[in-house]
Amino acid sequence: MSESPQKIVRSEAEWRTMLTQEQYQVLREKATERAFTGALTQNHGTGNYHCAGCGALLFLSGAKFDSGCGWPSFMLPAESKAIDEHEDRSFGMRRVEVTCARCGGHLGHVFPDGPAPTGLRYCINSASLTFERPKP
Ligand code: FE
Repeated sequence: MSESPQKIVRSEAEWRTMLTQEQYQVLREKATERAFTGALTQNHGTGNYHCAGCGALLFLSGAKFDSGCGWPSFMLPAESKAIDEHEDRSFGMRRVEVTCARCGGHLGHVFPDGPAPTGLRYCINSASLTFERPKP
């Protein structure tokens, strides 16, 4: 078993210079992009989804599915230790927030209504991800 990812800690001022405004609002301020507006929601390409904050590998295209919910949806992360989970009681709901284990960036939430075999739906903001096709 490999080590947990090395943590990346930056000041909010540093993040502001590194990220677009939309990335900053999602990753650092836990905003949610409007449904069906994200660039990667309808992306069906083969490749890898990385954290837009720190570049960590988070999801593989093989785990992506069309949930119809309006955000990129995955059945499982690339590695369980790539992602941290936190109870989130904001907005009068009880949800499980998921963050990048390396940089702490907010990604979205995980819900227990995904397809078999995991039964999970990682509902992730496009703005928190970058997509990379495999190198030829
Ligand atoms: Fe990250």
